[in-house]
Amino acid sequence: MLYTPPPRDPDAPPVRINLLSDTQTRPTPAMREAMARAEVGDEQIGDDPTVNLLCERVADLLGKEAAVFMPSGTMCNVAATLVHCRPGDEILAHESAHIIAREGGAHAALGGFQITPLPGADGQFSPETFRKALHPRSRYQPPQVLVSVEQTANIGGGTIWKKGTLDEIVALAKANGIATHMDGARLLNATVATGIPAPAMAAGWDSAWIDFSKGLGAPIGGVLAGSREFIDAAWQWKQRLGGSMRQAGICAAACIHALDHHVRRLADDHANARALARGLSQIAGIEVQEPETNLVFFKPDGAGISGDRMVTALRRRGVLLAMMDGRIRACTHLDITAAMIEETIGYVREIVRTA
Ligand SMILES: *Cc1c(COP(=O)(O)O)cnc(C)c1O
Repeated sequence: MLYTPPPRDPDAPPVRINLLSDTQTRPTPAMREAMARAEVGDEQIGDDPTVNLLCERVADLLGKEAAVFMPSGTMCNVAATLVHCRPGDEILAHESAHIIAREGGAHAALGGFQITPLPGADGQFSPETFRKALHPRSRYQPPQVLVSVEQTANIGGGTIWKKGTLDEIVALAKANGIATHMDGARLLNATVATGIPAPAMAAGWDSAWIDFSKGLGAPIGGVLAGSREFIDAAWQWKQRLGGSMRQAGICAAACIHALDHHVRRLADDHANARALARGLSQIAGIEVQEPETNLVFFKPDGAGISGDRMVTALRRRGVLLAMMDGRIRACTHLDITAAMIEETIGYVREIVRTA
C-alpha cells in the first residue's frame, strides 16, 4: 500500500509538476523568512517561545487543554498509543490505517500492542462494524483500550469521516471504557472542505493531532493535543523516543506561518483535485474516484494502458506521481496550480491517444 514512485529514468526531464504527495511542498519564501526571524530557546526544557506559542495555538484550534510539538506525525501517533495503552492491549483501527501499514510496526515494537484491522469502504469503518468488534473483558481476550480514526482517511482516498459517524464511535467507545485517538494528519482538509470547525470535529477524541508537513507546507512537524495530563505523559515519551529538540522554534515558526496563511487555501487544493478528477473522467476508459479533499485516485487500465506505464509516460513529461494500492494517486498541494492540472490532464489525454 506504499506508493512506489517510478524508477529513476535517465530520459526523464526534471520534475515540473509534482503530484506525488502533499509532503513534497517546499517552504515558501515567506515561510523561510518567518523561520529566519523566529525567536528561539531550548525546546527540551520548555523554553522556546515560538514552540510554546505554536502548542497554545494548536490546543486552541483543536479545542484541547494542551499540546506538544513533535518532529513528525508518526511520533504523534506513537507517543499517543504509548500513553493510552499497555503491552498486550488492543487498538481498533481501519485496516488501511497509517498506524498499521506505515509506521514500521512501531506500535508492536515499542508498545507491544496489537491492532485489530476493521474493514470498511474508503478507509472508514462503520459504528456497527466497531460495535461488532467489541468483546467483553475477560482473561482470554486482549483488553480493548483504544480506537483510532484517520481524518481524512489517507488510503481511503482522502475521504472525510462524517461528524455524525465520529460522534457515534465516540459514544460507543465511551460506553465501553475505550479511549479515542484521531490521526488528524489532514484534519484541516476535512474542516476546510466541510466548514465544520476543528473543535467540533475533534470533540470527544481524547487525543488528536495535525501534521504540518503535508498540505500545510511546513518542512517538518506535527502537534499532538489532548488533556493537560495526557500531554504531560506524551512529553515523557517524546523524551524517551529522542523527540525532544533544542532551538525548534525555527521549525515551529514555519508551522505558525502555515496556520496563518495556508489553512484557508486548502480549498484551492480541493478545487484543483476536483478539476483533475473531472478532466480525467472525461477521458474514455479512465476510472476516477470522486475526491472529497486533495487526493485523487484513478485507474487508466480501461483506456488500454496500465497504471505503471501511465506513471512512466507522465514522468517523461515532467509530471511525478505514483501507484498506490493498484491505482495511481495524484495529490494536490501548495505547489500545484490550476494551470498545472490542465497541463496534466492534457498529457494523460495524449498518452491514452498514443497508447
Ligand atoms: C503522513 C501521515 C502520517 C505520518 O506523518 P509523518 O509526518 O509523515 O510522520 C500519519 N497518518 C496519516 C494519515 C498520514 O497521512
